[in-house]
Parts: sequence; C-alpha cells; structure tokens
Amino acid sequence: MMTVGETLREGAARLRRTGCATPLLDAGLLLAEVMEISREELLAAYPDTVAPAQYKAFEARIAMRCRGVPVAYLLGRKEFYGLEFAVDSGVLIPRPDSELVVQVALELMTGFGAAARIHDCCTGSGCIAIAIAHACPHADISASDISRHALTIAARNAAHLLPGAVRLYTSDYLRNVPGTFEIITANPPYLTATEIETLATGEPHDALYGGADGLDPYRRLIPEAVEKLSSNGYLVLEAGRDQHEHIKRLLHSAGFRSITHHRDLAGHTRVTVGGMS
Ligand code: GLN
Repeated sequence: MMTVGETLREGAARLRRTGCATPLLDAGLLLAEVMEISREELLAAYPDTVAPAQYKAFEARIAMRCRGVPVAYLLGRKEFYGLEFAVDSGVLIPRPDSELVVQVALELMTGFGAAARIHDCCTGSGCIAIAIAHACPHADISASDISRHALTIAARNAAHLLPGAVRLYTSDYLRNVPGTFEIITANPPYLTATEIETLATGEPHDALYGGADGLDPYRRLIPEAVEKLSSNGYLVLEAGRDQHEHIKRLLHSAGFRSITHHRDLAGHTRVTVGGMS
C-alpha cells in the first residue's frame, strides 16, 4: 500500500504529463476529497497509508482530470466571492472574472439605498445573484436563466446559502422576467466557436457560445434591458477582453447615456456598465 505522500506525487506526475498547469494543487484537492479531509489535514497525513477504496476513487478522478474534466466538476463545487457554490457539468463554472460584476453592482447599489431591485440574467449556478444578495440582505434580488437545469442548481445554491433571498425565473433573456430594476447584471455566453474549442472544459455550449463574433447575446439583452430598467438604472455586463468597444456602441445605440468600462486586477477590461441617465 502507498502512503498519502506517494499517492499524491504519483497523481500529480500523471497530471503533469498531460499538460495540467496545476498538477500538485489539483491532485491535492482530489485526494483530500476522496479521503474526506481538508487540504491542511492532508499535509499532516503524508506518512499515513491510503486505503485501497480511496486509492481507487482517487485514480478514477485523476483519470478524468487527465481527460480534461475541470476540478470543480469532479468536486461538485467552486468558490466564488467567498461562498461555496454547487456546480455540475450543466452549468458554467463560476470564474474569478465575474467577481468584478458583483463588485461593480455593489458599488452602484450604494447610490440606491436599501430599496434597490437587482436582476441577474443568464445566472447559471446563481453565483452573481447570490453573492450580491449575501452582501446586501435587504435588496430585492431575482435571477433568470433559459436553462431549467441551471435553475435547479441556482435554486439549490440559493436554498443552501441564503434561503428565500433570490427569486428565480426560467426565461429566454428577460422575456418572462416581471418587474423593473435599478440594476441588471449579466455574464452571458460570449465566446466564439474557436475560443470554446481551446477552452475544452466540457462546460455547456449554450453557456459559452455567443455566436460568430460572440456578441449575439448582447444584441438581444441590451434592448430588452432598456425596457426593464428604471430611469436611473444600470446594466452591468461582463464580456471578453476585446468586446467592450462593440458593447459600448450597442449600449449607445440602445439609448444608454453614461457608459463606463471596468478593469480586472490584470488591467483587462472585463465589465462595461450602461447607465440610463
Ligand atoms: N469567462 C469565460 C471564459 O473565457 C466565458 C464565460 C462566458 O462565455 N460567459 O472562459
């Protein structure tokens, strides 16, 4: 039988050979998971032996990881904005990029006081809506997605993290969403077909593909948002690095008055905000 340390090194070596960028981290997360201990406890357990059933379970996960399955899908969870979200292969894995959407929305909300109404469109796992709700317990928050499956995941996350705090709607963009909002947020699909191929994470195509230039969702969502925002409302949009000037033009022609870009820590524009007034 092998020790925890040996098992970990063996798993990491296999991941490294397949070109995985974070082999030791991934192997550690997967081994801690099958042993049902934390990563800190895993370090202390290096000299212990790994039970055969746990070794087998670890091997199976390493094999899937070698085939490109993301760690978040293998663990069934992903951390976002300090909260832990359940995920499965039917939803986009929350990205640190989208934390900027939350941050920008929270800053805008301070201008509206406790009465702000916020809607998150294309919510997927619900991460943006739930993170905002977590930071602003008194705001009125709803979220929607076209995928029924995504909504069951979002509902599970909302029930677990903040029961009753977020209303959920099945809707093609904003079509079936009732009400008017001070802020609408969205991380819609915005990749081109080629970009999805290079990503190769097995995430749902519908959550990633934004048409030939990746901008189709914004062509739909921006005019719909105009109808649903209050006269001093804001639309907060995540998009790919090179898309923000196009989005600015779309916002401008839909009648948005103030348009601002927001950069992530790496200095790339990730979020564009359209203000109605
Ligand atoms: N940010 C994701 C990526 O580049 C794409 C998410 C999306 O299409 N909304 O991997």
